[in-house]
Amino acid sequence: MAEFRCRACGQEGTWVYDPERYTCPACGSIDVHFVVFRHELPDDDPAAKRMDELATEEANKRPKKESED
Ligand SMILES: [Zn+2]
Repeated sequence: MAEFRCRACGQEGTWVYDPERYTCPACGSIDVHFVVFRHELPDDDPAAKRMDELATEEANKRPKKESED
């Protein structure tokens, strides 16, 4: 499941993730925010690949800390 929150109609809730859909499940507005959990996505999903890339970039950007004092 994924979560959505729509700024157009104010609806929020969960829905079955559909990679083809970028609009509000309730009203069809594009002014909607989706939260899709990475584990919901198959590894060959473009969104999943992008998430993995971003995660890798973030990990590479941060200097590794030797200790956390
Ligand atoms: Zn809506």
